[in-house]
Amino acid sequence: MTSRIIDGKAIALEVRAEWKLRVDALKARGITPGLAVIIVGEDAASKVYVSNKVKACADMGIHSERISLPANTPEATLLEKITELNAAPHIHGLLVQLPVPKHIDGNKILEAIAPHKDVDGFHQINVGALVSGHSKFPPCTPAGAMKLLEKCGIAIEGKHAVVVGRSNIVGKPMALMLLHKNATVTLCTSKTQNLASHTRNADILVVATGKPHMITGDMIKPGAAVIDVGINRLPDGKLVGDVDFESAKKVAGWITPVPGGVGPMTITMLLANTIQAAERTL
Ligand code: NDP
Repeated sequence: MTSRIIDGKAIALEVRAEWKLRVDALKARGITPGLAVIIVGEDAASKVYVSNKVKACADMGIHSERISLPANTPEATLLEKITELNAAPHIHGLLVQLPVPKHIDGNKILEAIAPHKDVDGFHQINVGALVSGHSKFPPCTPAGAMKLLEKCGIAIEGKHAVVVGRSNIVGKPMALMLLHKNATVTLCTSKTQNLASHTRNADILVVATGKPHMITGDMIKPGAAVIDVGINRLPDGKLVGDVDFESAKKVAGWITPVPGGVGPMTITMLLANTIQAAERTL
């Protein structure tokens, strides 16, 4: 079997074009959606992520503000900045790029962001809403993966979905989103015994472990939809996923490449959450 490649770049462009119409409609009513991104410190990867978010906002006609604070910024100063942006009427979405430096309590920061501006969906109120199936801000990466499944017409209801990885930002919300779409969900972790016995039963396999190439073709059910969330930089500089693409593509029915799969969808869903936050102010 040769799998169909899920083209995240093309789907992201299509989805962004849909959301751009909603930006235009907001602007016609005098509202420009606004996103503020706070970055603390000099982490190179974080800087790239933030630049990509700012650029994507510009492409969509969304106002954005990048607030760069030095690595030694006191926690209290960061909290003050969040309070100020929580109250700023032209800012509809606010996020702090993670990770924050070690002297800052990341949980305290996430809880300080006003829940109605929490476009990453990490505040406890929004996490709770996701659990109960009433999420206003679905976390962007799993939301992007769900959108890929939807756009490819991959059925979820009644299917067996296996998610490998249980982080708060990817694995857990992904499992919940699949559950809300009536999949039967198995969530695997580093403690799972005989991982392959689970992954081989997956109609939909989502992998988010940060372990390059850990899922190989022999661990995949023929015809399955494989969503590889992983982004790993190898010593030779090459970017690869958590799935061994070469062996997996011979077995899977659908598969996301890395790069160009889930990655482009994450920012797309951040834009969507920001636009929705602005719409809720009408
Ligand atoms: P975390 O490190 O927070 O979580 C990794 C998870 O994988 C943990 O739950 C861990 O289990 C599990 N795991 C690790 N090894 C194994 C194993 N051998 N078998 C089964 N489970 C295992 O990572 P993230 O969720 O933040 O990120 C995962 C990957 O996704 C990374 O490559 C990251 O770069 C990428 N990513 C991509 C994004 C995108 O936009 N495309 C956005 C966010 C992340 P345990 O809990 O037991 O330790």
